[in-house]
Amino acid sequence: MLKKSHIAFSHAVISGGILLTNYPVKAALPLLVGAHFGSFAPDLDGGDTYDSELTRLLGKLNVLQYIPHRTYTHTLWIVALLVLLFYQLPQMGANDYLFRNLILGFTISYALHLILDNFSKQGVNWFFPFGRYRYNPKFKSYQKKRKYRWYYYRVNGNFELWFRQLCRLVMIVNFYLLYNHWF
Ligand SMILES: [Zn+2]
Repeated sequence: MLKKSHIAFSHAVISGGILLTNYPVKAALPLLVGAHFGSFAPDLDGGDTYDSELTRLLGKLNVLQYIPHRTYTHTLWIVALLVLLFYQLPQMGANDYLFRNLILGFTISYALHLILDNFSKQGVNWFFPFGRYRYNPKFKSYQKKRKYRWYYYRVNGNFELWFRQLCRLVMIVNFYLLYNHWF
């Protein structure tokens, strides 16, 4: 999915979670900020992120772009490392709500990104470099070999467009409810 779709999905899910769990506002704000950046962080490997001249320019400074798209950045290894980091934070002396919620939001959102990508045609190789996939030289990418074939969405296709608009709608309703709840 495109960066804007990932962002919309993360905000829709996280704001819904905040509503349902009655998360305090002081902790919810860093959670949302972390979630925002986590939603497109996996695609810093030069994936769908460069949608403007500015991001293309900034991308030149980005060393992660030399990792082939949807390989190491799109694995459960990274999610596991983030979860580990989250649980190590108190020992590292960072037990305040700000930092912990930033990492928590980032981690959940990172995982949501991988789940969404998994349902695209290319799929996600969860345990790269292990597992079944094949190299596609045309797109310089690794395509997951699937055991079962059912319907998968096409990146930037119609399904993604409607999905994104639905996420934005849910997000707006959630933020409206949260605003009324908090202020
Ligand atoms: Zn991705």
